[in-house]
Amino acid sequence: MHEVTLIPGDGIGPSITESAVRIIEASGVKIAWDRAEAGMAAIDKYKDPLPKAVLDSIERTRVALKGPLTTPVGSGFRSVNVALRKEFDLYANVRPAKTFEGVTSQHDDLDIVIVRENTEEFYAGIEHYIDPQRSAAETIGIVTRSGSHRILKYAYEFARKYHRKKVTTVHKANILKYTGGLFLDVSREVAAEYPDLESNDRIIDNMAMQMVMNPHQFDVIVTTNLFGDILSDLASGLVGGLGLAPGANIGYTASIFEAVHGSAPDIAGKDLANPTAVILAGVLLLRHLNEESAAERIERAVRSVIKEGKCVTRDLNHQSPVGTSKMTAAIIDRLTD
Ligand code: NAD
Repeated sequence: MHEVTLIPGDGIGPSITESAVRIIEASGVKIAWDRAEAGMAAIDKYKDPLPKAVLDSIERTRVALKGPLTTPVGSGFRSVNVALRKEFDLYANVRPAKTFEGVTSQHDDLDIVIVRENTEEFYAGIEHYIDPQRSAAETIGIVTRSGSHRILKYAYEFARKYHRKKVTTVHKANILKYTGGLFLDVSREVAAEYPDLESNDRIIDNMAMQMVMNPHQFDVIVTTNLFGDILSDLASGLVGGLGLAPGANIGYTASIFEAVHGSAPDIAGKDLANPTAVILAGVLLLRHLNEESAAERIERAVRSVIKEGKCVTRDLNHQSPVGTSKMTAAIIDRLTD
């Protein structure tokens, strides 16, 4: 029996995480879920978006499945997602983007993994207005040699473990000569330790264009925090949209699995949300727990239901969609077929 922290999240979070839990339970894997509230739900109840009970739970279980959490834009509390990554030093954000049969997308047979540095640079929260009149603001992005080294090592080890062929480092070292330059230098040092893997690098602006025009040239992509955040949404757009993209936040002592998308307040409570991204985050979680065969079966069932296209949500079938709960039931049926 595994113990896993479950954070239902805000907006569409509770309904899509419930789908993932039902499907994982139907796969036969035994998990004791420790439910813990964070985000808006926790503010209502505990006046704190990240109550100690959540941190204690993750510290104990060392693994969590998390629904999206709302972050107020501009003012209000800081992102709980970023706080969790900092608290548990979840330095590697792994976001796979793989095409689905049955989903219209710009390119067929794409299979890209983005490895994003998750703790440094512009997400470190070092920012302020320079004067009371708020005439200017500054954000300081810190990139360290050790932070760069561990994420680049992670990307190369990941590529080797999953029999990938190539690692592309993305940077802006032509303009950000120190932060970008440091990351690029370390990437060349690490690449030299992996002669079995092809290595190259791209400047971020060119990379964005290349990913749209000719994404098949990429395999594993490793980059700094902000570029990774943006490129992973771009990659999910290439394979059919945010509703399909899972992510893993990996640290030395804990890991948190979640969808790439947010809490989608525009469709919350309407049974419209596509549960796939968080279900596939559950698949990544099962692989992390060495439950490979259940992970494989769930991924196959999800892909089969999507390929058939009859029991899928509105984002995948405008003509005759079903709701989140019916799509979940269809995946469970396919699992037990
Ligand atoms: P969003 O990802 O919530 O939504 C963007 C668009 O995609 C919306 O039109 C939404 O309806 C659609 N969408 C998202 N997920 C979907 C799904 N599963 N099925 C169908 N359609 C889906 O992005 P946003 O609107 O920019 O952010 C809303 C809130 O989520 C913000 O507070 C933001 O800070 C937060 N957020 C949280 C996380 C996280 O918890 N990791 C990630 C991103 C954004």
